[in-house]
Amino acid sequence: MIIKPRGENIELELFHSLRVHKKLEVEDENNFAYLEKGWLGEKQFDLLLLGLPNECLILNNLLLKVNNSLFQIDSLLITQKKIYIFEIKNNEGDYFFKNDRLYMFTGKEIKNPLNQISRSESLFRQLLQDLRFNSIVESQVVFINPEFFLYEAPVKTQFVFHAQLGRFLKKLEITAASKVSADHIRFAEKLASMHITENPYSRLPIYTFEELEKGIACGRGCGCLDLEDTNRHTLICKKCKFIEDKESAILRSVGEFSFLFPEKRITLDVIYTWCKVIKSKRTIQKILSKNYDLVLLGRGSYYVEKEKK
Ligand SMILES: [Zn+2]
Repeated sequence: MIIKPRGENIELELFHSLRVHKKLEVEDENNFAYLEKGWLGEKQFDLLLLGLPNECLILNNLLLKVNNSLFQIDSLLITQKKIYIFEIKNNEGDYFFKNDRLYMFTGKEIKNPLNQISRSESLFRQLLQDLRFNSIVESQVVFINPEFFLYEAPVKTQFVFHAQLGRFLKKLEITAASKVSADHIRFAEKLASMHITENPYSRLPIYTFEELEKGIACGRGCGCLDLEDTNRHTLICKKCKFIEDKESAILRSVGEFSFLFPEKRITLDVIYTWCKVIKSKRTIQKILSKNYDLVLLGRGSYYVEKEKK
């Protein structure tokens, strides 16, 4: 039973929108690729856990705080006998292990996930004590990518490699088959309620409305901002030739604007500038009036979400 689903990754979605309108620094681009890859790996693992008996409890993507220390858990599995903490890694390529450190073949060292997971495990145990809940805790680092290979991997570690996943899950299935108690469920719900939601804007590169490249992003998601406004009702992407209804394209673009700039007001002038490709301001005004409520404030009039009736 899923007690806390993984939810959406707002930070990743913001990155997606932003990089269409701004050429990111290499470091930000790498950070985005890393986040996206990690997220895909976690989603894959979610599907695997869904195959377990329904008697166990699953909490995905938890950010918790104990004694002022924050720690994050990719997936937590509560079974009647044990609690499992999973750290999911989606690295691919060849790596080697030496003196408790992890290196890429280029010699570049990457963070050893065992350190990360032992910190999480220790903080999680403190949390168990605080909440007066008793259970065995076990943690595992799952390398989910079939293209990952670790040379000199120690025989006894908390690593689970892709080739071992099938057997690992079979074992889990047996553990997960005993029904959890009402206490377990209460405990899981308590944990879910303690989850801290991070501000998704905090780690994004800094950007301003002025510096971003304007234009409606292609509705097919080809990453192009160069659409053509050739007739009354549709827009055509110059790159992939995708044709989209003008109204839906404009509304998507307004949504994107609010997403990237939640503190800014939706005004006719701002949206006209933001959409760029739409020749007629009147068209934008019509579409905004139809889909939003206008707050009249003279020249500073702005649009807000329609009140749900
Ligand atoms: Zn396109």
